Amino acid sequence: METTPSAVTPPRALATEAVHAGREDLAALGVHATPLDLSTTYPSADSRAEAARLDEFAATGARLSGPPVYGRLDNPTVARFEEALARLEGAEAAVAFASGMAALSAMLLVRASAGLRHVVAVRPLYGCSDHLLNSGLLGTEVTWVDPAGIEEAIRPDTGLVMVESPANPTLAELDLRALAHSCGTVPLLADNTFATPVLQRPLESGARVVLHSATKYLGGHGDVLGGVIACDEATARQLRQIRFATGGVLHPLAGYLLLRGLSTLPVRVRAQSATAAELARRLGEDPRVRRVHYPRLGGAMVAFEVVDDPHEVIASVRLITPAVSLGSVDSLIQHPGSISHRIVDERDRRSGGISDRLLRMSVGLEDVEDLWSDLDAALSGRPRERAATPAVGTAAR
Ligand code: PLP
Repeated sequence: METTPSAVTPPRALATEAVHAGREDLAALGVHATPLDLSTTYPSADSRAEAARLDEFAATGARLSGPPVYGRLDNPTVARFEEALARLEGAEAAVAFASGMAALSAMLLVRASAGLRHVVAVRPLYGCSDHLLNSGLLGTEVTWVDPAGIEEAIRPDTGLVMVESPANPTLAELDLRALAHSCGTVPLLADNTFATPVLQRPLESGARVVLHSATKYLGGHGDVLGGVIACDEATARQLRQIRFATGGVLHPLAGYLLLRGLSTLPVRVRAQSATAAELARRLGEDPRVRRVHYPRLGGAMVAFEVVDDPHEVIASVRLITPAVSLGSVDSLIQHPGSISHRIVDERDRRSGGISDRLLRMSVGLEDVEDLWSDLDAALSGRPRERAATPAVGTAAR
């Protein structure tokens, strides 16, 4: 049947997709909340039919039609999160993994298994991504370049160009469109963990693969580890085959929590970004701060270099939690040279612009004045009184 123009569903706004994508069938199922399917296995009474379905997966990597066979192959709750994230990033498909690092590993294996073992990358990247590439742990080889050097560094066996923008931890921004152009036919992978699809959709600028540590803003509450890649269906098929073979699957409960996290992603990112912009402004005027890094794009991450000892600031915050990671509803601060980027060799850290005075703060949903008074006191080395900690629950930690 031909579709008349009036029957075409208009594209929906991101905020609408965030609460509805991956859940369109719920009303027909007679439920309101997303079903959580924890099954590790599924009844397979017709073995001949199952054999045919498994052969098809092995040959194509397409999602199984019909019920899943085994939890490492497919899970309906995780598939809802994948569908929703793909829609938010404007991708054909998304494939979820146990963590951001599992997702990156799978992408490297997809390319390496096609004989394309060489990666071109721009520093800085998240410390462990840098380490994974630099160590050659997965049999890949990396050439580190400035953005202007990408085209020249590409070889016949280059399988991927990898960048982060805004980058962890300096929040350096790259012109993704120009970069995608320099990559020619080699896919550009953009880690979009910091911007999220609320602020930036790299596929629209020519990137071919988008990586997220879903642990961060997508989950948004600091209680779920996950990773996801948004890409074209052909790449997704290869990623599903690698995931099945190597086992870095996302747990269904994590899929459930991530899908729930997506529904508030636009609201959280916008509110947290507004507070971050104000803190960046105040830090920029503060004589105790040497330099502030805050992206033109906006966002809820602020990095700043302090005049005095950064470790004292970390030790002095009281409301802000001194902890690695980011993207939660509560604010976190850490010293990249000691934690998130510790695994990167000191010289490489420097070449990526990561100074020893640099602190990286993930701004949460607290009131801006409360955050500022905590930062202000910590920058002066005058920690405020710690709030009384209830004894309850400590035994369970
Ligand atoms: N990419 C970025 C930008 C990150 O910040 C992180 C973790 O901090 C990762 C990837 C890795 O993600 P995960 O910790 O979920 O494995």
